Amino acid sequence: MPIASSLKSIDPDIFRLVQMEVRRQEYGLELIPSENFVDEAVLEANGSVLTNKYAEGLPRKRYYGGCDCVDAVEELAIARAKELFGTEFANVQPHSGAQANQAVYEAFLKPGDTVMGMRLDQGGHLTHGSPVNFSGKHYKVVAYGVRTTDHLIDPDEVMALAKEHRPKLIICGATAYSRRIDFALFRKVADEVGAILLADIAHYAGLVAAGEYPSPVAYADIVSTTTHKTLRGPRSGLLMGKAQHAQVINRAVFPGLQGGPHMHTIAAKAVSFKEALAPDFKIYARQVIANARALSDALISLGLKIVSGGTDSHLMVVDLRPIEVSGKDAQHVLDSVGITCNKNTVPFDTQPPTVCSGVRIGTPALTTRGMGIAEMKTTAELINQTLRNRTDEKKLDEVREQVRALAGRFPLYRHRLVTE
Ligand SMILES: *Cc1c(COP(=O)(O)O)cnc(C)c1O
Repeated sequence: MPIASSLKSIDPDIFRLVQMEVRRQEYGLELIPSENFVDEAVLEANGSVLTNKYAEGLPRKRYYGGCDCVDAVEELAIARAKELFGTEFANVQPHSGAQANQAVYEAFLKPGDTVMGMRLDQGGHLTHGSPVNFSGKHYKVVAYGVRTTDHLIDPDEVMALAKEHRPKLIICGATAYSRRIDFALFRKVADEVGAILLADIAHYAGLVAAGEYPSPVAYADIVSTTTHKTLRGPRSGLLMGKAQHAQVINRAVFPGLQGGPHMHTIAAKAVSFKEALAPDFKIYARQVIANARALSDALISLGLKIVSGGTDSHLMVVDLRPIEVSGKDAQHVLDSVGITCNKNTVPFDTQPPTVCSGVRIGTPALTTRGMGIAEMKTTAELINQTLRNRTDEKKLDEVREQVRALAGRFPLYRHRLVTE
């Protein structure tokens, strides 16, 4: 195999599909709050020859030779993660957010132990105890939710459930909760019952790093996160926390759970941590939240409902019941005009999870493109027009044109498109 051959000549099918995906990302409006766009530096590291290297173990304690370069890469990634979040230790090897959480279970629990997490249908994540996930299958799960009145986490319920069930591990953090999480409260509850506290900031990590969302670092024993959501790095995971837990976590990641670390991804993570440490990133994170508030306000003024009435972060769940469309249908029609989001349950939803009464939307990706308040107002208009004219093909065609025109004003990866 010639080392210099390109994807285009070796595999035109995959090449063409990647080109189509570049076009989709370039000319659509990306509102999935767990997605973002990495820059060329992160892509370059992620696509580097580091993918070839086996490096089981930790820097300078590897099971393979030839690790000098990747040792230095991983040490940089660790040092930057610690600096970025102000933590005592970091393990940069988890392959994803789910694997990071699984390592925490492996580190502290035995199968059958009790775990407390947020209900999936009210904002929690699969790995926080869903019955279809390893977490719900192998552990006893107690779930807290939000209040009916204001859709906020109920501190009294959290404390009462913990006292009743005495979980060994308490998880705070969410995947569809737009408000600030009171990490001090969860510390108090964990202390009350002698539990380990895991804060899973997969969604908020970039905002936390920038100081624009509360940090759990002072309160949690372990902090887990993804690196590809608001943090704007490669698709991966990260574990951090108090020094006393470093060894048990490191061992749970490897050899407990994973094999060789993905050194190319670790290099890309190091790059994204460096970017997140730069002053620009704070401006970005602030704009993400300002944009989310503007989007939420604009949707409310157009007659849509937002769960909990607004947002303190990068995301929100739109309650579609006032306009009598399901989350499933909304996701579908929005997709058809180039607006990407995902269906989501609203608290106390009466629809099954495959249908849902809401959609979850967020601003990290659009903000990375350089969009601001004015574009959020336009985006809200386009969402509203789409949802209210679901069967009007002519109207939908107009919206499709406007989506393309708006995205077209904020170039992203179009230099990667090959014209033949
Ligand atoms: C996205 C997410 C994860 C999982 O991340 P993956 O990289 O998709 O495995 C875990 N926890 C929360 C809260 C998340 O939002």
